[in-house]
Amino acid sequence: MFTAFLIKYAEIGIKGRNRYLFEDALVRQIKHALKKCEGEFLVHKTQGRIYVDAQSEFDFDETVAKLQQVFGIAGICPVVYVEDEGFEKLCETVIQYLADVYPDRNRTFKVQARRTRKNYPKDSMEINMDMGAAILKAYPEMKVDVHNPQILLNIEVREKIYIYSEIIPGPGGMPVGTGGKAMLLLSGGIDSPVAGYMIAKRGVTIDAVYFHAPPYTSERAKQKVVDLARIVSRYTGPIRLHVINFTDIQLYIYEKCPHEELTIIMRRYMMRIAEHIAKENDCLGLITGESIGQVASQTMNSLIATNEVCELPVYRPLIGFDKQEIVEVSEKIGTYETSIQPFEDCCTIFVAKHPVTKPNVNIIRRHEQNLEERIEELFRQAIETDEVIVVE
Ligand code: ATP
Ligand code: MG
Repeated sequence: MFTAFLIKYAEIGIKGRNRYLFEDALVRQIKHALKKCEGEFLVHKTQGRIYVDAQSEFDFDETVAKLQQVFGIAGICPVVYVEDEGFEKLCETVIQYLADVYPDRNRTFKVQARRTRKNYPKDSMEINMDMGAAILKAYPEMKVDVHNPQILLNIEVREKIYIYSEIIPGPGGMPVGTGGKAMLLLSGGIDSPVAGYMIAKRGVTIDAVYFHAPPYTSERAKQKVVDLARIVSRYTGPIRLHVINFTDIQLYIYEKCPHEELTIIMRRYMMRIAEHIAKENDCLGLITGESIGQVASQTMNSLIATNEVCELPVYRPLIGFDKQEIVEVSEKIGTYETSIQPFEDCCTIFVAKHPVTKPNVNIIRRHEQNLEERIEELFRQAIETDEVIVVE
């Protein structure tokens, strides 16, 4: 029955030139999301509104589900288009529409007409009145409520006439591509994919980096990260995933530094390398899945130590989340099942029994001097191993 969708978006703060950028990005992201859907769609901007017109048979539920993954969409209104065949015919169509969409019509309603084609014989007020009367005649159980109607029936007279009344909620946020780009440190865990999702929701394009430590971490662990990036890319569009071989740096730290500081020093090198790659790829920030106190390397003291090695801002959208709250988002976005697969990521191999929970940065810096001899060379070599995998 429905042949199109009207896309609603929040318009606050997108005046002037920003509005075009926002709308164009939204159109682009919608096209991307619908690529894998059954059916042909025309996504277009008409008179300041975005429509998705089905040009062939399509699967309604699948299409709505895909649109619900596009950041920037506040609501999705399924629309019926009809040719203008006179007002009588339009009333019949609307009466049939109500029967189809609302099996229980014991509800209040309001007709809200809009006429962009001015040669239509009735103006908006007349359409409201006359259509309202026709509906009441067909369905005496329905009542008009102009202030708080349960059904707000929109009738838009354009070249064709558009009928819609339902709003399916979208994910909100801003269209990816309107907010610059950031580099996500993506491990195989539960947290970092959620962190990437949350920053992408604000319109930020996501690149990712994964630190791989073969043979201590398996090919399966790497595959798991690729799979996670692919799931996140449903929301963000294509992600360029950088895989860096971190083994030599890790072994060198293991050899030269106190074991209870291993994780912190390792994390400092991950941040340094991530920042280097971020800058080479025009990223404006880093993203991690850290949350205060979750593990020893995420206490406030530890965060001072990992934070101080970077110049770029580090975005930590999960900083105040409990694990359970993070799990809920990861289930919602579909990464959870993949994240809990048991392949170890590189941190679990070299963990000390009693890692420091209150590292002193001066001491950490001093112990990093033990690495002086070879670390620059190893850093350069690690960057040369950069393997870029584009996932979508
Ligand atoms: P996650 O569930 O995301 O793995 P975690 O609870 O295991 O997080 P840590 O291992 O302390 O936390 O890592 C903190 C953050 O550092 C991660 O959220 C991620 O952003 C980044 N990180 C950790 N290990 C790696 C890795 N091997 N490659 C890339 N980023 C990593
Ligand atoms: Mg982890």
